[in-house]
Amino acid sequence: MFNKFVLSTGSTVALNGVWHRYSNSAEAWTLRGVDLEVAPGELVGLLGPSGCGKTTLLRLIAGFERPERGSLQLGQQLVAGGGAWLAPERRGVGMVFQDYALFPHLNAWRNARFGLARGKGDERVAWLFSLLGLEGLEQRYPHQLSGGQRQRLAMARALAPSPRVVLLDEPFSSLDVEVRLRLRSELSAVLEACDASGVIVTHDPDEALAICDRVAVMRDGVLHQCATPQEIVRTPATPFVGSFVLQRNVIPAQSTRPDHWRCSLGDLNDQDIRMGPTTTSEEHCCVLVESKDIEIVIDDRGAASIVSREFLGDLWEYRVRVGELIVRATCAVDRDYSPRTSCNIRVKSGATIDLMAS
Ligand code: ADP
Repeated sequence: MFNKFVLSTGSTVALNGVWHRYSNSAEAWTLRGVDLEVAPGELVGLLGPSGCGKTTLLRLIAGFERPERGSLQLGQQLVAGGGAWLAPERRGVGMVFQDYALFPHLNAWRNARFGLARGKGDERVAWLFSLLGLEGLEQRYPHQLSGGQRQRLAMARALAPSPRVVLLDEPFSSLDVEVRLRLRSELSAVLEACDASGVIVTHDPDEALAICDRVAVMRDGVLHQCATPQEIVRTPATPFVGSFVLQRNVIPAQSTRPDHWRCSLGDLNDQDIRMGPTTTSEEHCCVLVESKDIEIVIDDRGAASIVSREFLGDLWEYRVRVGELIVRATCAVDRDYSPRTSCNIRVKSGATIDLMAS
């Protein structure tokens, strides 16, 4: 259990048992007992569906919201909770927003210099312009820059005062794919060059897994797992992490005898399938199966029915209804089935499944 008077050492950011709710919605907690640490130089992703509390968590680190319980530490300093409060402008935190939030009446150079004292920091801004590929654009106004250049400028402005941590709220969502991929692949190197940690909000699992050192997966204000992308892929901590982050099918199941389970896709046993690293001995559990491991068998009298499909270039991804459940299954392009086709679905022999308490 967290003791609020013991400061954790070595972290750039440490949230300890943080609970938060907005004053105008007294019933609903936005954050429920969140513990999260960001190490120096680390890029941590906050990942979860819309409304799960990601932006609130970021605003709390920045000092725009206060925790109702628990505490927040930046470096060795307690900045919120336990009777402490440090104003946002004194926290050494930079912010980058989805909509850039640049000043339209200031040119790029003056936008980037905005948080700096008069006459100080010109060298650092020039260095940031060169680091972020903005050289030559100093005199342009925001409306004379492309979306990607504006976001680079927003990063330069956030990094100019040498913050210990930069908070990025969906910074790439309004950019087109090519620019988004380029900017996000540069982010770690830019933060490293500036000796800053980063916390980035995203609702895109692929983005979080691709660029973050660790990913914090949230739902309804609760942190489900905070781990490296490799750990999350190998051992998702909860059924939600398996379905939201890894897009696995989560199928309720019941253990019928040791190593045998019954679910709406039929009976499973450890002779036919391979057990993944996550397992449980609970009678009522969930089976996690990848969509490539689900087989569709067309059958006029089948219990399942194809709901919709998407063409993924080299595969079809079908959504199939069986009872109350929607299951995703991928098939080769020559297996071209129309919506409303009746079928049966089953777990392929040799598939790897994980079992989790439901
Ligand atoms: P996310 O960033 O994950 O989409 P938010 O942190 O923005 O989620 O919101 C979390 C919850 O808090 C949502 O239910 C949202 O409606 C609510 N919320 C956000 N801002 C406010 C506010 N200023 N006042 C009241 N409720 C808010």
